[in-house]
Amino acid sequence: MNREHVVNLLDMNQPTLAQFFAHLGEKPASVNMRARQTLKWLHQAQLSDIAGMTDIAKATREQIAAHAEIRDLAVLHDHRSDDGTRKWLFDVGSSAIDAVFIPEDDRGTLCISSQAGCALDCSFCSTGKQGFNRNLTVGEIIGQLRHANRALKADRAIHGRTADGVQPITNVVMMGMGEPLANPQNVFPALELMLDDCAYGLSRRRVTVSTSGIVPQIDELARVVPVALAVSLHAPTDALRDVLVPINRRYPLADLLAACNRYLAYAPRDFITFEYVMLDGVNDQPEHARALIDIARTVPSKLNLIPFNPFPNSGYARSPRARILDFQRRLSDAGIVTTIRRTRGDDIDAACGQLAGRIADRTRRTAERAAALAALSEGNRTGGNG
Ligand code: SAH
Ligand code: SF4
Repeated sequence: MNREHVVNLLDMNQPTLAQFFAHLGEKPASVNMRARQTLKWLHQAQLSDIAGMTDIAKATREQIAAHAEIRDLAVLHDHRSDDGTRKWLFDVGSSAIDAVFIPEDDRGTLCISSQAGCALDCSFCSTGKQGFNRNLTVGEIIGQLRHANRALKADRAIHGRTADGVQPITNVVMMGMGEPLANPQNVFPALELMLDDCAYGLSRRRVTVSTSGIVPQIDELARVVPVALAVSLHAPTDALRDVLVPINRRYPLADLLAACNRYLAYAPRDFITFEYVMLDGVNDQPEHARALIDIARTVPSKLNLIPFNPFPNSGYARSPRARILDFQRRLSDAGIVTTIRRTRGDDIDAACGQLAGRIADRTRRTAERAAALAALSEGNRTGGNG
């Protein structure tokens, strides 16, 4: 049989699956139930084989299998950090993407990618330096969550720490490679799957989209799937932001802040998170703190200071710890809730938002990929399949 037109079930959210079943000739009265059953098999039972969907008639399963498959991401690397942080590197054909799991006492956060590379070229970002490769599909975005969930559960089972029904991943942040709002056609259905009770059932406040500020798509996110919003501010003036975050030339600060205020009417929380990378001597001076206070006061917001993650030839350095603390104090004294992001998984280059730190170095990346592919062909596949 010609399998060229076979679709990936992981690309489908509940409405798309219902349509798929309608196309297969399923009765209108039961398409929604089939869609829900399928989601549970894929994202809760984490099935890898359509034949295993045992509450669906065998003839229907055979029909599904004739038109669709379950296409998981290929794992290149599975790194574990000493502090429990875990990072997976996935092969997406022409390049690699990654996802990072960050365990904390009261939650487990998975940081995932939305694109291979990024076209927006922020000057301090290693993903930006790689350029744009392509948008990830719905299946590749949700596939990161599916894979991490499965691997973490298997791990717990091995170590005897499984409490039945406990999900290792309680929060998802779209802060990996890529600009999520530059790929809304795939990111939005993937977000719907994260929230769907038949799939991952996360609450809207536990799913965060981080954007560099694509204003029209912030409004679209509010309309379609209003999850928590983080905005990469990084500079308190247009002059500086034009340099650090070039999309600012198209959507300047005034427009971005207005979009944040509009979003708040739909947001699951009553604040927007502003991210602010601390670049030595660039945006970390008292005058920047003063300007930032003025801006932060115009939007109900919390500020998250991110110590810059260096990468080869970036041209930037991380602000010294004392300056970051001083910056935080100035903002806190002005009444703005300001946190400093902990750097985690440093030994495996896993810091969120800096996922491409290693692979941006193309020589190293090629060598890493070659080694990983060799390991794969030796049957050393990491991160078990089902
Ligand atoms: N494209 C989206 C989401 C991915 S980046 C965005 O820009 O918001 C996630 C966060 O990491 C963003 O705030 C981004 O500006 C930040 N980041 C990028 N490169 C970084 C680096 N080298 N060090 C620290 N943070 C960085
Ligand atoms: Fe793209 Fe975000 Fe990096 Fe900017 S910071 S280049 S938007 S991934």
